[in-house]
Amino acid sequence: METTAANPAAAGAHADTLRRDQSVAKNLFFGEIVEENLFPYPKMRDKDREMLGAMLDAIDDFLAPKHADLKHYDRKAEQPPEFIQALRDMGLFGLIIPEEFGGLGLSNAAYARVLTQTSSHDSSVSLTIGAHSSIGMKGLLLFGTDAQKAKYLPRLATGEMIAAFCLTEAGAGSDAASVRTKATRDDDGTWTLNGEKIWITNGGIADFYTVFAKTDTPEGKMTAFIVEASQAGVSHGPHEDKMGIRASSTTTVAFSDVKLPADQVLGEVGKGFKVAMAILNNGRTGLGGGAVGGMKTLIKLACAQAKERKQFGKPVAEFGLVREKIAQMTVDCFAAESAVWMVAHYIDSGCTDYSVEAAMSKVFASEAVQRASYEALQIAGGNGFMREFPYEQVTRDTRILSIFEGTNEILRLYIALSGLKDVGATLSELKHAVGNIFNDPIKGFGVLSTYVRRKASETTGYGTDKILRELHPSLRKAATVYEKYVVELSKAADALLRQYGKGIADEQHAQKRIADIAIDLFVGLCVLSRADSLVRENHPGQQSAITIADVFTRQARRRLRRNVRGMTINEDKAIEALAEAVLEKGAVGWDVV
Ligand SMILES: Cc1cc2nc3c(=O)[nH]c(=O)nc-3n(C[C@H](O)[C@H](O)[C@H](O)COP(=O)(O)OP(=O)(O)OC[C@H]3O[C@@H](n4cnc5c(N)ncnc54)[C@H](O)[C@@H]3O)c2cc1C
Repeated sequence: METTAANPAAAGAHADTLRRDQSVAKNLFFGEIVEENLFPYPKMRDKDREMLGAMLDAIDDFLAPKHADLKHYDRKAEQPPEFIQALRDMGLFGLIIPEEFGGLGLSNAAYARVLTQTSSHDSSVSLTIGAHSSIGMKGLLLFGTDAQKAKYLPRLATGEMIAAFCLTEAGAGSDAASVRTKATRDDDGTWTLNGEKIWITNGGIADFYTVFAKTDTPEGKMTAFIVEASQAGVSHGPHEDKMGIRASSTTTVAFSDVKLPADQVLGEVGKGFKVAMAILNNGRTGLGGGAVGGMKTLIKLACAQAKERKQFGKPVAEFGLVREKIAQMTVDCFAAESAVWMVAHYIDSGCTDYSVEAAMSKVFASEAVQRASYEALQIAGGNGFMREFPYEQVTRDTRILSIFEGTNEILRLYIALSGLKDVGATLSELKHAVGNIFNDPIKGFGVLSTYVRRKASETTGYGTDKILRELHPSLRKAATVYEKYVVELSKAADALLRQYGKGIADEQHAQKRIADIAIDLFVGLCVLSRADSLVRENHPGQQSAITIADVFTRQARRRLRRNVRGMTINEDKAIEALAEAVLEKGAVGWDVV
């Protein structure tokens, strides 16, 4: 449908029509596209845009002349104190802290945009800032009491205190609920904290730790605490020698009989797992924004390199196989950016159910930037392999993105199980059995025991009449792909629940496929929405946006078709048997001699 004044979505009233209690991603599993939450593509708040203009320039002015220094910091694996001080002076530790506490009060979207800019220069810088804001003190913003906020936020805003997030332990990585760091409640209501966390970003420079500890209280098993580095019994280990993001501080952080007054509990006693997940969900757009910044730099580098380097008498930029890489990086970059800012908008607009979309944007953006770093290095050929050039560092730096803040495997399972949970819960016959199993998909892996295999109704009513009405005609053809495959997703979800019953949580191959279908649908719809908005506003980049939407959709359609087909026709059993054989032997069982 064409834009008309009577069309509230087209008139830019997205925030007014937004269905804040609805998750676009979860509705996809029902065959529904929540158009109100997708169209029109959100715009940056005016206040943020004004603030960003000056800030992005200041970041460029500060970091661009420092490229040689930043490279040196990578080699030496450190950010010198005077450099951290310069980050403080620029206000980069107060980005999301409300103005009343001395911060800049940026929205999630604007914050992610700042990380795009810093990441376009150096990932370690983004990590130092991001670990502070996205996860280190995010718990204080989300769950802190007024007194806690008044006490810490002003110092966190100036960077006088730097924050870190302490969840991971030697025995508790993806299985975050199994932490052994322990806090025991003493008779006077204080707590005593003991244990060790590993791989803590900012561990060596932080003054403020958000720490998750086992607290076997009647209220629950895990509790979050605020711990100050200056408290007796707190220490940190040496800087880890890492593959990438080498300059950013990563250390162990240990707690030995640390006495914590009751007012250092963050959130409710026993609700620490909820606090941890809320922080990670809310912080994922920071990582996504950083990935987009990396991609934009890689595209610039690749273009310059391809135009400059001549082989066979012409610039390699003229060869189809090089052009293909540059075009693919561009499609990936637009798609990642479209998804990340859509999620940031959900958070900023007060949506209550965005964790699945946040996971999808993190998975897509992290993998997109890794593909881009691989291809940009390939375009540079032998130069790409040389440390004199930036490609190898970007490749090393971006590798972490699919590992931390939830590995992409765990996030895919989370996406699949969260979507299936709601579908299962809606099928009345399955309601009670499925509800408990999936209350917490992360904790729930592999613990199904009481679910009884049921046969759900063949006619679920899903998947009828899915027409995206708000789209510009130039994107109508692409829209039909999402209209078709959202129905396929709902059928696949229904079929999976019927086929596997209580075993669904252990069927990881199927979960991966269904997660990938859902990711392609969500990211693709974000791409369509953004392209649609650019066309409607007659943006100079509109033609490229239409082409990108077309290319992304064609590629997505092939993946969607393959994943839907793979639900019934696949080599999962063979794969499992092969893995079993190799794991048992611990090596491959053949040689050529
Ligand atoms: C540089 C760096 C910085 C970090 N910063 C922080 C920080 O600031 N704070 C913090 O708390 N932590 C931090 N971490 C820890 C990070 O979050 C963890 O590494 C991550 O959660 C994964 O845990 P793990 O490394 O123990 O991997 P594991 O959990 O041991 O996983 C190993 C592999 O098995 C897969 N796997 C695990 N469980 C399953 C399953 N159920 N199904 C399928 N596959 C599975 C994983 O996806 C992965 O591929 C950091 C790590 C690094 C490397």
